[in-house]
Amino acid sequence: MQIGKLPRKRIAALPTPLHELKRLSKELDGPRIFIKRDDLTGLAFGGNKARKLEFILGDAIEKGADTVLTTGALQSNHVRMTAAAATQFGLRAVLFLRGKEPVTYKANLLLDRLLGAQIEFVDTDDREEIVQRVETAAEQLKQEGSNPYVIAGGGSTPVGCTGYYVALTEVLTQVNEMGIHIDHLLLASGGGGTHAGVVLGVTALNFALNVIGISVSQSTDYVVERVCRLAEETACNLGHRLKFLPADIEVHDQYVGPGYAIPTPEGLAAIRLVAQTEGILLDPVYTGKAMAGLIDLIAQQRFQRDETVLFLHTGGTPALFTDETLWNR
Ligand SMILES: *Cc1c(COP(=O)(O)O)cnc(C)c1O
Repeated sequence: MQIGKLPRKRIAALPTPLHELKRLSKELDGPRIFIKRDDLTGLAFGGNKARKLEFILGDAIEKGADTVLTTGALQSNHVRMTAAAATQFGLRAVLFLRGKEPVTYKANLLLDRLLGAQIEFVDTDDREEIVQRVETAAEQLKQEGSNPYVIAGGGSTPVGCTGYYVALTEVLTQVNEMGIHIDHLLLASGGGGTHAGVVLGVTALNFALNVIGISVSQSTDYVVERVCRLAEETACNLGHRLKFLPADIEVHDQYVGPGYAIPTPEGLAAIRLVAQTEGILLDPVYTGKAMAGLIDLIAQQRFQRDETVLFLHTGGTPALFTDETLWNR
């Protein structure tokens, strides 16, 4: 795959650490567990979006953009990190957030404002309506002589997903240097872009590794379809024709709970467990639910005792501060 030719801005602090969680594995009486610390990518508290934004901002800047527009939930990590990345390159960020303006700005939303982004609240659940608002705003900016660049929600585009193909080359190097073998990689899957990039990396690099996605919002069928499509489009963007079959993509949707960004008791328990065994902070929207999935799959004996699981920490830690009452005990 020809990554070298793609425009890229160095945004993330790479490589991120990869290390073992011995105390957690002992506590769970499970397989060996390693963690890939993509919560430590840097960029206004870090997370998986930094890797996607390296290629997205590369593309935007190559196209001469002066403003980036994007959308997300009120507490979107993608939006927060887009605001930071845009600022770093002297671009203006306009953020369209789903929901009403809250009385107090907390966590990611507070950071969006601190980063100086222009924030527009769109009080609707209809994603199409928001996409329309963004398109209209981009049109208007063009008429005023600006050069806007629209970033799809979550940065889950073939350009963005390339960041996770690159991440897999990084993991492969680290695993070889450490002399370890990884059997499974487990991650939180939202829009499916990270998962797609990982799956593409595994295939293109001939990495003998099973990828397990824990959905945090959508049904298994929906995520699987998106992962296949995005992996194929990302490969195509890199000049390769590859086919991904739904039967080869493993996604579990039973850890979502009542819905996206609504904490589950199991997710909160997983956050406490990892905090109190390893001193590592997960988040209630993505990685806590993914860890709850890992814990349950271990209990169900999905893994052999001598196998090794790599947990991808995709970040999201500012969301720990959205509702402090979650941590009252
Ligand atoms: C966006 C996000 C994800 C999901 O990434 P997708 O590529 O949308 O599947 C996972 N974890 C965190 C912390 C995120 O912010």
